[in-house]
Amino acid sequence: MLSYKHGFHAGNHSDVLKHICLIYFIKSIKKSNNSITYIDTHSSGGIYNFNHDYMKKNKEYQSGISKIIDFKTEDPYIRFYLKTIRNINESKIIKFYPGSPKIAEYLTDNKDELYFCELHTNEYHELKKNFNKYSNIKIANKDGFSFFNDKKIKKERNGIILIDPSYEIKDDYDKVITFVKYNYNQFENIIVLIWYPILNRDQTNDFINEFKRTGIKDILRIEMPIKNDSEEKGMTGSGLIVLNSHQKTALSLRGSIKELQSCLQLKDNKKRVIVNYLR
Ligand code: SAM
Repeated sequence: MLSYKHGFHAGNHSDVLKHICLIYFIKSIKKSNNSITYIDTHSSGGIYNFNHDYMKKNKEYQSGISKIIDFKTEDPYIRFYLKTIRNINESKIIKFYPGSPKIAEYLTDNKDELYFCELHTNEYHELKKNFNKYSNIKIANKDGFSFFNDKKIKKERNGIILIDPSYEIKDDYDKVITFVKYNYNQFENIIVLIWYPILNRDQTNDFINEFKRTGIKDILRIEMPIKNDSEEKGMTGSGLIVLNSHQKTALSLRGSIKELQSCLQLKDNKKRVIVNYLR
């Protein structure tokens, strides 16, 4: 039984980090390719209304998008993220927060192939409602980790995979590593983004070490703590593992993530941003 609902968390600090990076990588791959493949293994519903009960319950967006929506910055990636959120809303006042499927749909066109997987039936129906009209988008009510068992993406296609489980079930950490090890040889031209929460420092370190042990070269780690490590329940920050990114361009994100952290972190935070390749 799946109980996680992304609506409770939409627009929080970790969504902001994830979506800035997602936008950055979609834009960079679209620049050099006429058509791309985008796969969202854990899509959720795709659009979140600030007036919905889920959004209103814990108001997690106040830790994220609300803090930066009017932020004036010269940073090109943060600016483009904010512009994207406003453009999708077609207004300066934002009424809904776009999830990864909506962002991907907005930044691509009908030459691109988009695949959205969602296991939770209600979220799947939301996805259908939100994206059924696009003929280039395929929506599946299935396990995102088994996506590649029946869908073989042509090796020459360039694209992006976003792997974004909730990690509510501890198995998700192992499933991510197994998915990557088992399928990596199909990802030649595909940038893979894997989101993770920082809930417990030992668990995060173990997860990162598992990536080191895969032997995959040039694994980029992007991490943005917003508070110091703690024994208390809840996220102290989040991160992304990125496979197959271009070294020089990816590192240009460092300044943006530092600036983002300075807006979103709590006052006494001493934990620094990480934007480095694993050794
Ligand atoms: N990617 C979304 C975004 O950025 O807007 C948020 C995704 S949310 C963190 C994770 C979603 O994965 C939930 O909607 C959950 O129902 C779904 N889910 C959980 N296990 C799954 C699985 N094995 N395959 C596909 N979806 C799954």
